[in-house]
Amino acid sequence: MSVFSQIDFDTHEQVLFCHDDAVGLYGIIAIHSTALGPAAGGCRMFPYASTEAALKDVLRLSKGMSYKNAMAGLPLGGGKCVIIADPKRPDKADLLRAFSKHVQSLGGRYWTAIDVGVGPKDADILAENCDYIFARASEYPEGFNPSLFTALGGFTGIRAVAQHVWGKSDLKGMKVAIQGLGATGRDLSRQLYEAGAELFVTDINETALQYVVDNYNATPVSPDKIHALEVDIFAPCAMGGIINDTSIHEIRAKAICGLANNQLASEQHGVMLMEKGITYVPDYVVNAGGMMGAGTRIFSQPSMEDSRNRVLGLYDTIMKLLEKARNENSPTSEVADRMALEIIANGKN
Ligand code: NAD
Repeated sequence: MSVFSQIDFDTHEQVLFCHDDAVGLYGIIAIHSTALGPAAGGCRMFPYASTEAALKDVLRLSKGMSYKNAMAGLPLGGGKCVIIADPKRPDKADLLRAFSKHVQSLGGRYWTAIDVGVGPKDADILAENCDYIFARASEYPEGFNPSLFTALGGFTGIRAVAQHVWGKSDLKGMKVAIQGLGATGRDLSRQLYEAGAELFVTDINETALQYVVDNYNATPVSPDKIHALEVDIFAPCAMGGIINDTSIHEIRAKAICGLANNQLASEQHGVMLMEKGITYVPDYVVNAGGMMGAGTRIFSQPSMEDSRNRVLGLYDTIMKLLEKARNENSPTSEVADRMALEIIANGKN
């Protein structure tokens, strides 16, 4: 297998294969672009079925980080890393310590943080041997998780899309369906509830579902029905690929704005959403809150208030994007890609 002929290889600047026999570490770091600044993006620990699957994921995710950081207005490039392992492994901390030495060897060209299978406490372990780690538990007040910045970005995006579609950012009485009530979906539910929205929610985890039903007056819905509800806004906050050949014909929401990564199964689905008159807020734009809140630490020492304000700035970014797409009669997903590429090509943010 050649890395360069992989379909997801997109002139990445650097791909580093990391191995440590002593602990059985197999990992990959992909730096997509440093045009805007040091590459930044989380560390994922997942038991990939093959090296090819891990490589595909890290190439795709690191490119997505370049676009996300560009659209977020951050002076950061795009990168991502994966560790091929089950995050429930008892020797997880040893793997993280061994892996972080490889991140350190890049001398700050790449900064990493949390992602699937790697939480803020794990980021502290990564930081034992490495200067280029952000979103660490020890940097925040007890109980705070940088995912809360992402949830704030989701709420901000929903206000923006409501303003764009209905001419009002007041969410009182707005019907919102939320898929996935984990670190992001749960706090998004809280904010929407407090803003007076009517919530319809689902999760495959019964405890997660019950919490939101009990605390935020939400109506529980079966996981296979949530996307098809007749609501104003559908907010996917679970897994990728939710907008696909099957679901797209069943979606009845007027707008889609959620925090899950890679919501469109293919680029064509962005075109189809526009044709159906559904306003889609591209995932990597609205879910940049975590990077905007926690990633700023790479180039400054922001207060919590500065971080929050930066995330709230997503409102203007999303409004600008939606208006541009409307004026050009183009899918929002394509317009976002073009805007991101232009920022990267200009080399500054
Ligand atoms: P999480 O693991 O904390 O929560 C995800 C929830 O979705 C879980 O409760 C899980 O049970 C549920 N779920 C999984 N499959 C489901 C299904 N088929 N139907 C209904 N529920 C299902 O994850 P998170 O941190 O909340 O992230 C959610 C999404 O947002 C992911 O796609 C993630 O990549 C993306 N994202 C998260 C952040 C962040 O800061 N956490 C930042 C950017 C993007």
